[in-house]
This record gives sequence, structure tokens and C-alpha cells, in this order.
Amino acid sequence: MAKIDEHTHQDLIMKTGTLVEALPFMRRYSGKTILVKFGGHAMGEADYVSAFASDIALLDQVGARPVVVHGGGPQIGAMLDKLGIESNFVDGLRVTDEATISVVEMVLAGGINKALVAALASAGGRAVGVSGKDGGLITARKLSAKAKKTDSTTHDAIDLGFVGEPSEIDVTVLDALMEHHLIPVVAPVGSGTDGKTYNINADTAAGAIAAALNAKRMLMLTDVAGVLDKKGNLIPALTVSEAEALVCDGTVTGGMIPKIMTCVDAVRCGAEAAVIMDGRAPHALLVELFTEHGMGTMIKADEKLT
Ligand code: ADP
Ligand code: MG
Repeated sequence: MAKIDEHTHQDLIMKTGTLVEALPFMRRYSGKTILVKFGGHAMGEADYVSAFASDIALLDQVGARPVVVHGGGPQIGAMLDKLGIESNFVDGLRVTDEATISVVEMVLAGGINKALVAALASAGGRAVGVSGKDGGLITARKLSAKAKKTDSTTHDAIDLGFVGEPSEIDVTVLDALMEHHLIPVVAPVGSGTDGKTYNINADTAAGAIAAALNAKRMLMLTDVAGVLDKKGNLIPALTVSEAEALVCDGTVTGGMIPKIMTCVDAVRCGAEAAVIMDGRAPHALLVELFTEHGMGTMIKADEKLT
């Protein structure tokens, strides 16, 4: 064996020290399901995707059971533009007609889903992409939304088209994959009992799947540091009731609303904690899970916050 100098020796001790410190965390997550939602905004650059994939592959390698649910709003918008299909939004929700839902399914379950599976393969992970349609994973029901009329304060029921919410989750397909050490990657599209295809907000889909799998942790990777207060400062920890209050008082708006409400539901359903964090920060996921340091905003049950 080649002799090593003192400097290299010290360097190696530091590196192995990191591994030794991670051991109790590895034990904690061994065999446990970790639901990771990868937001469309966080996957904007190839580097973010490959860093995310190597973190997930490592998580799998050390014995945790990662399940990935991905979004794709910006990518859907770009494809609709390319095809010359007009996008209309009501209160931040895309009005989804027949032409739009076919593009949504193509982008989510085709393009993005397979790109993530390929990135995981490059990182040494064995992943299988499914949509909510596979194995009856997500049965969707049409979302009935109320929109504010622009000219008055009254609320009218509006038809968003093929936008749905999960009405039933069947995790058989995910269990089967995980049993064979395959990492499931889920596109948030589901079938309705009417046989139609519905687009589901990826945060909502992730929450429903986390609950059905009894996930120990849920991590929401997005394009901001976490939940920000009115001054734009990161809030490191929130109880369920504090999180709800931020939605009520308008501090949290837009795409952060389904994210925070999904975390609240997950914690209420028994998850130890749910975290919203920046998916673009290098190895944010590993720092959060395998060190004493927290990343982003952690949402915990009211009585558990220390
Ligand atoms: P994703 O693709 O990850 O689902 P979204 O755009 O749907 O991303 O949701 C994240 C966005 O929510 C942020 O980029 C930010 O613009 C918005 N947002 C609204 N209120 C807040 C808040 N209080 N703290 C952080 N982000 C917020
Ligand atoms: Mg979103």
C-alpha cells in the first residue's frame, strides 16, 4: 500500500469523520420511506438535476427508501408556447382543456419523468418512472374551484377543465418497485373514474402519496430558500398552526400555498416533519437528512417544536 503524508492523512480523517457522524442518521432512515417532491422550478438547470439525482441515489444506497414526485409547471408552459397553445390562468391555476391536458401528460409523464429516471441511472440509482395512472396509483376527481370575479367580490364556480385532486391512492405499484430496490419516480397525472386524464398539483400528489406510504419524512424541493416572512427572511421552523396562520394573513401566496398546506396535512397524518427547501442548493437534501443542521423551513406538530 502506498505511504501517505501527514497532510493527506489529516484530510482523510476529516472525510471519514463526516461518514462516521452520518451513521446515526443513516440508521434513523434505514428502511424508512422519504418522500421527495422535486419542483418544476428547481429543475431548471441540468446541474440541479444531476446533483439532485446523486443525492437520491446516495439516500437509496444507504438503505432509505426514497420516492420522488416531480412537478413541471414551467416546462409545460414552455411546450404549450412552442405549440402555440394559449395558456389561461384563474387564481394561479391553469385552465386545462383537451389540447392542454394532452401536452401536460406528454411533458410530465414523458419528458420530465424519463429525464429524471435517466439522471438517476447516471448517478448509479435504479429508478422506474410511473404516472399516477400506473397500477391505479392516483384516482383523480375533478377540482371544483371558486374564482373571484374581476369586477366584483362575488365568487363563482369556475371550470378549470382537466385539473384534479387525488380521491384515492393505491400504493401497490410503489411497494412492488421498492421491494425490488427500484426508486419510484412519479408524474402527477391521474385517471378519473370517468376515464379522463387529470393534472394534479405535484405538491398535493406528493402529500397524498406520503400519507398513503406512511412516509417518515417529506421534503419539498423548490426555488426559494424556504418559507419567507413578510420581510423576505427565511423562517427556519414553523408549527402547524403558525404555518396555517401565514396562509391566512397572506404572507404565503401562489405556489407556496399548496406546498405549506401539504406539509401541514403530512404532519397531521403522522409524518415526523416536513421540510420546504431550496432544491438548487448543492446537496441540500443530504445536509437536511444526514447532519444536525436544518435546511429551509421545517414544519412540525404544535407540541413537538423545540
Ligand atoms: P414549485 O415548482 O417548486 O412547486 P412554485 O412556484 O409552485 O414552485 O412555488 C414556489 C413559489 O412560491 C416561490 O418561488 C415564491 O415565488 C412563491 N411564494 C409565495 N409566498 C411565499 C413565501 N411566503 N415564502 C416563499 N415563497 C413564496
Ligand atoms: Mg408548484
